[in-house]
Amino acid sequence: MTKQDVIQQAKEANVQFIRLWFTDVLGTLKSFAITADELEDAMDGGMGFDGSSITGYQDIEESDMIAMPDPSTFKVIPWSPQEEPTARMICDVRTPDGDPYVGDPRHILRRALERANEMGFDNFYCGPELEFFYFKDSKGTEPLDYGGYFDLTTLDAATALRRETVQALQQLGIKVEYSHHEVGISQHEIDLRFDDAMTMADKVMTYKTVVKEVATRHGVYATFMPKPLIDQNGSGMHTHQSLFANGKNSFFDADAEYYLSDEAKAFIAGQLRHARELSIIFAQHVNSYKRLVPGYEAPVYIAWSRRNRSALVRVPLYHPGEEKATRMELRCPDPAANIYLCFAALLHAGLEGIEKGYELPEPMERNLYNLSAEERQKMGIESLPADLGEAIKEAENSELLHKALGEHTYSRLLQLKREEFEDYRIQVTPYEIEKFLPVL
Ligand code: GLU
Ligand code: MG
Ligand code: MG
Repeated sequence: MTKQDVIQQAKEANVQFIRLWFTDVLGTLKSFAITADELEDAMDGGMGFDGSSITGYQDIEESDMIAMPDPSTFKVIPWSPQEEPTARMICDVRTPDGDPYVGDPRHILRRALERANEMGFDNFYCGPELEFFYFKDSKGTEPLDYGGYFDLTTLDAATALRRETVQALQQLGIKVEYSHHEVGISQHEIDLRFDDAMTMADKVMTYKTVVKEVATRHGVYATFMPKPLIDQNGSGMHTHQSLFANGKNSFFDADAEYYLSDEAKAFIAGQLRHARELSIIFAQHVNSYKRLVPGYEAPVYIAWSRRNRSALVRVPLYHPGEEKATRMELRCPDPAANIYLCFAALLHAGLEGIEKGYELPEPMERNLYNLSAEERQKMGIESLPADLGEAIKEAENSELLHKALGEHTYSRLLQLKREEFEDYRIQVTPYEIEKFLPVL
C-alpha cells in the first residue's frame, strides 16, 4: 500500500478519523487520533507527540517525538460507528531529526530482523498462540463459563464472543486458524496463521485490542493476565518459530534426525541457553511467575522435547517431515509480554546459537514435572527463574539482552522491573493474613 492507496481507501470508506498506534516499553498500546484532513501530512512528515509521558521513552528535556504511520497497516476499524468510520495505522517512532527512535519497540524488532538478514535469512516466521480469560467484570470475581478444553456445550457461553472476535479479525485482514475453549474454566484461545515477525507483532497488538473490544461490547471483560486463577492453568503465548532463506525453510532437513537442520538445532539451543536471561522479556510481570509452576502445562525446566508439554521447547509432530510445517514451539512466553521485544529477544537468542554453533542437548521425553531435584541436577536440567527478582538478576548480567534491546531500553526496562518487584515484595497478602495472623 502506498500513500496514495491509503488516501484513496480512506476516501472510499468515508473515514473521518485515523487512530495512530504505537507501543510503550511494556507493550501497552498507545493511540491518538487525527482527522482525515491531516492524513496526507501525517504520512509525509509524521505527527508530533510528547515522549516524556510514554513509559520507558524520553525525559522531559528531550521529549519531542514523531509518530510516522506505516501505510501498509491502514485498516478501517470494524467496530467504529458507521456514521464516523475510523481507521487505524501502526506507527514507527522517530526523533525530530527523522531518525528511528532507539526506544521504539518496533525499531528494536527491526534491528533483530536485520541481524537475521545479515546472516542470510529472509524471514523469521512466528505463530504465537495467545490464551486469555473472560470474566464477568474487570475485578475477575466471576468467570464467564465453566467449560474445559475443546468443550462445545452451553457451558461455553463464550462461543458467540469468540465467533464475533474471529469475524472482526478477518475484517481487519488477520487470518485465524483455530479458536477453541482452553483447559481452564473461562479460558480461551484464538490462533492466528503464522506470518513474518513484524507483521505478526502488529497483528498481535490488534488481536489483543479486538478480543477486549468485543468482550466490552458484550458487557464482559477479557484479560491476558498470565495467571488470574490459582487453581487453573495460566494463559500462555506459545510461540512457533522458523527461519526461511530463499523461500526455503532453513529449519528443515529431510535426512536429519527429527527433520531438524543443524541451524534449527543451534537456534533451539540458543533459546534454551539464554532462556533465563530473557525471562524478563517473555515473562515480564510478577504474576508471570505464578504461571511457570509445575502441573499446569506451563514450562518450568529448561529442556526440549518432541511431544512433552512440560518442556520449554517442543518440536510439534503434527506434520512430521513436511518442510513448511517444520518449526519449534517455545512455551514459556505469556501474552502480557511486549510482543515486539519478545520476538526481537527470541530471534537474537536463536541467532546467537547459530552464530556460535551451540549444541542441542538430547530431547527429554519424560514428564519433567515428575523428576526429583536430584534427577534434574544429574541430567543438568536448569529451571526458569522462580520470580521476577531472579529474572532481574539474570537480565542484569546479560550481554545478549543488552545487545538486543540497546542501552536505552535495557536500562529503562530494568529500572521499571526493579520498581515493580520492590512494590510487590513489600505487599502483605491475604494469604499471609489468613495463614499467620490467627496462629501467631
Ligand atoms: N495454558 C498453558 C500455558 O500456560 C498451555 C496449554 C496448551 O498446551 O495450550 O502455557
Ligand atoms: Mg493453548
Ligand atoms: Mg501450543
